[in-house]
Amino acid sequence: MSEKTYEVRTYGCQMNVHDSERLSGLLEGAGYVRAPEGADGDADVVVFNTCAVRENADNKLYGNLGRLAPMKTKRPGMQIAVGGCLAQKDRDTIVKKAPWVDVVFGTHNIGKLPVLLERARVQEEAQVEIAESLEAFPSTLPTRRESAYAAWVSISVGCNNTCTFCIVPALRGKEKDRRTGDILAEIEALVAEGVSEITLLGQNVNAYGSDIGDREAFSKLLRACGTIEGLERVRFTSPHPRDFTDDVIAAMAETPNVMPQLHMPLQSGSDTVLKAMRRSYRQERFLGIIEKVRAAMPHAAISTDIIVGFPGETEEDFEQTMHTVREARFAQAFTFQYSKRPGTPAATMENQIPKEVVQERYVRLVALQEEISWEENKKQVGRTVDVMVAEGEGRKDGATHRLSGRAPDNRLVHFTKPDQDVRPGDVVTVEITYAAPHHLLAEGPSKAVRRTRAGDAWEQRTAQPQQGAGVLLGLPKIGVPEPLPAVTGGCSVQ
Ligand code: SF4
Repeated sequence: MSEKTYEVRTYGCQMNVHDSERLSGLLEGAGYVRAPEGADGDADVVVFNTCAVRENADNKLYGNLGRLAPMKTKRPGMQIAVGGCLAQKDRDTIVKKAPWVDVVFGTHNIGKLPVLLERARVQEEAQVEIAESLEAFPSTLPTRRESAYAAWVSISVGCNNTCTFCIVPALRGKEKDRRTGDILAEIEALVAEGVSEITLLGQNVNAYGSDIGDREAFSKLLRACGTIEGLERVRFTSPHPRDFTDDVIAAMAETPNVMPQLHMPLQSGSDTVLKAMRRSYRQERFLGIIEKVRAAMPHAAISTDIIVGFPGETEEDFEQTMHTVREARFAQAFTFQYSKRPGTPAATMENQIPKEVVQERYVRLVALQEEISWEENKKQVGRTVDVMVAEGEGRKDGATHRLSGRAPDNRLVHFTKPDQDVRPGDVVTVEITYAAPHHLLAEGPSKAVRRTRAGDAWEQRTAQPQQGAGVLLGLPKIGVPEPLPAVTGGCSVQ
């Protein structure tokens, strides 16, 4: 009998991307194999890992589910499961609107997926199971890692903040921290498998430790990462300016494998808007943190998330955002036009801003940030940087005889292919010769090539593609690696 196949479709933030790695691991542990790329619904199990953040997310989900209904009729035994934030929010409405769905599960019980699929098959009826709080910290679940050389590591889930535009606290619950020993054990196991870069993941990473009342727990964790032999790059996303304390800056600056990079969501530069967003820092504090980070790490690349057109935002408020952007000189900003998310306090606020006003401000902000990103990138020309080779980051690499990867500060670098054989995960030292707003070029010969254990791991994994058996708890799994993920906001604002 041929093996059953699965497909996981992921929407939303890094939390969901990492949860999908776990869903894949769970399904492979239960004997399923990943359907070939482009299967487009032609799998025995199709799982939707949904996001409730975007407006109209539900319409899109029902549209996608509708497209699968005829496939299901043609393919007896096919199962469809819906999980993630939208499932947590809509619950049994999903099976009412799309009765061909077999399983609905929430953000707190993803470990139940194989059992629920089996139960739905045996009982021949849809299973809807949503837990109100976390059943097990997700990192104890099997994981099918997407990359051989870079990995996400969850340190906390949920969030204790109540930003008025955000649905995360309602759907992911209060912050729950993972034990430091468990985090470090997972990282050590990953490094033993060849991973050399990790990104610590949480909605609000630097609040880590609030569970146990240790305000310095995050900086201690960063320093502990610095003692792990073979771990070359540590990143994290996302910190909240409110909890960004000096000990974190010191730990970043003093721990060599913590990369000179910070993604810290600003959201707005106006104190009035920040107050309405219920974000407890103000412009001055935000800029103060940036100043301290730059003093401690002059080459740090700082990126951010900004929402334009939050309800009540006046032209003056928007100017404060423009001012903050000019002062902060972000290397990159992920800019979003405010859109209502049902279930959030901001969705029902008065003074919603007309679309054309939001659009016009957005264009101005993007133009300013492009200019700054480019100027900041131009400062990199002439610098020598170590680039960790990535897979899938340079779409034109084949045609241009280049390779691509990330510098320590996470800037994307395209560089001339060295004569030696280099693999994703290897490190190539290059000199930057040209800057564009969103990438750098190194057009000369490489200065050095270092073959790494991460490159070996990539090679091994690529040479022996395996699927199905032997999923290890929280460890990387064999398979085709995806591009190295760019670090963006952990707070789901997009
Ligand atoms: S935006 Fe981030 S900090 Fe604010 S409530 Fe959402 S997850 Fe928490």
